[in-house]
Parts: sequence; C-alpha cells; structure tokens
Amino acid sequence: MTQGLFDLKGRRVLITGSSRGIGFALARGLGQAGASVVLNGRDPKVLAEATRTLAAEGLDVTEAGFDVTDPHALDAAVAEIETRLGPIEVLVNNAGINRRFPAVSVTPETFREVMSTNVEAVFFMAQAVGKRMLERGHGKIINIASVQSELGRATISPYATSKGAVRMMTRTLCAEWAKGGIQVNAVAPGYFATDLTKPLVDDAKFTEWLCQRVPAGRWGNVEELVGATVFLASRASDFVNGHLLYVDGGMTAVV
Ligand code: NDP
Repeated sequence: MTQGLFDLKGRRVLITGSSRGIGFALARGLGQAGASVVLNGRDPKVLAEATRTLAAEGLDVTEAGFDVTDPHALDAAVAEIETRLGPIEVLVNNAGINRRFPAVSVTPETFREVMSTNVEAVFFMAQAVGKRMLERGHGKIINIASVQSELGRATISPYATSKGAVRMMTRTLCAEWAKGGIQVNAVAPGYFATDLTKPLVDDAKFTEWLCQRVPAGRWGNVEELVGATVFLASRASDFVNGHLLYVDGGMTAVV
C-alpha cells in the first residue's frame, strides 16, 4: 500500500523558474524522486547550465526556455512541450519576483510587474496546463506561495498582495477542477537564501530578527522544500486539495 507512494517515476513535471534558487532545488529533488523534469527560465545560458548540471547527476531533465509573463504565449509553450515530450502531469508554478519599496513609492509599472509574474502568469500557466489535464482526467498543480500569503510586512506590499492572491487562486481552482481529477495545492515557504532574498541575507540585522521570529531559529535550506513538493506531486497526496502547506520553521504558527 505504501510502497511507491512518493515515487515520481515516469511523472513529467514542469517547474517554472527552475534555472536558479528554489525552482532549481525542486528540479533536483523531484528528479531524484524519479520525475522527468522540464526546467524553465528566461536566461538561456543559466537555464542550459542548470539543465547540464542535473543531467550530469544522472537525472532525467530537459529545458523549455520561455518568459511566463506573456499570457498569450503560454498555451503555445505548453503545446510545444507536450508535443516534444508528452503530457505534463505535474506543474510547479514557481517563477516569482519581488520589488521592495515603501507603499507610497510603488509605481503602477512596479505593481503590474509583480502581479504579471506572481499572479497572472501563475493563473495562465495553470490554465494552459490545467485544460489539458482536465481532458486527461488527472494532474497536479503546485503553486509556490509564501508566508507572505498570510503575513503582512512593510516594503513588500505588491509581493504580499500577489502571494495572498496565489493562496486564493489555489483554493478557487481546486473548487473548479477537483471533480476533473486535478489537485491544486500550494507550498508556502518561509525565508530561504536565494537571489530573491539577497538584500535580506546581506542584512545582519534582518537575520538577527528572523532567528528570533522563527521558532526554528534560522533560515531555511532550499532542499527543505523538496519533501513537501514531492508529497504534493505524488500519489501520496491524491485526496489533498486546495491546501497551502507552510514550510517555514513554524513562522506562521506563532506571533
Ligand atoms: P530566484 O530569484 O532565486 O529565482 C527565480 C527563478 O525564476 C529564476 O530561475 C528566474 O530565471 C525565474 N524567472 C523569473 N521571472 C521569470 C519569468 N518571467 N519567466 C520565466 N522564469 C522566470 O527566486 P526564489 O528561488 O527565491 O523564488 C522562487 C519562488 O519562491 C518565487 O515564487 C518566490 O516568490 C517564492 N518564495 C521564495 C522565498 C524565499 O525565501 N526565497 C520565500 C517564499 C516564497 P530568469 O531570471 O533567468 O528568468
């Protein structure tokens, strides 16, 4: 019964924004669990290097470079991947950006830039992959949310707004697609050292604050996001739907 519960062998997984950071760690982790992973990002050099690195480790990986912020191009991008490789069984909507400004200084352009990547692209990627999953009657979509889906924080109002939207998008797509055999869940990371959080990593005062605020008393390691994502990508989570799974060292559990 439990044998092979978390085995991703033969599952094709597309991870957006997987050339670096959390997405890259997830590509490696899901690949190690047996998945055939399609890596994505905009910079072709970085993407090719990431794919080469994981292939050299013996993982089944390939790349599909495209910008997720052009909603009209996403259907064609997904069609190209499925024609070339076969059905996408798991989509990890991971690509995301942050722009830090006091709320009074946020321009419409900055606000839209964050929404375009963190909300619009997540929705239209889910739509492009989800409609094909619905035809096949099964599939799993995992959105990468954030503790900021729940917790406010000064100077990141567009980002926190966008991650709150990802949380509700996860629930509403679950409501609409569950009967079609699709699970839509989210992983909500706490604080992990990547290019996205570099300004915070470089700020010793922030780390001091974080270590007091998080019950675990430290930053997360990106590898620590793999277990939750493998769970949500695998047969083990077939009756888990519309759920947001915090991987945050306890941060959202305490004030
Ligand atoms: P990074 O900035 O380290 O990596 C972002 C990745 O996304 C890169 O591969 C980048 O490649 C890609 N990307 C960015 N924009 C696009 C685009 N328009 N189209 C395609 N790919 C794109 O970020 P993290 O790894 O830290 O973050 C990953 C996700 O995790 C994000 O959704 C983020 O909000 C979330 N998160 C991160 C936390 C953290 O502590 N780091 C905490 C909570 C959530 P390229 O630039 O070449 O396109």
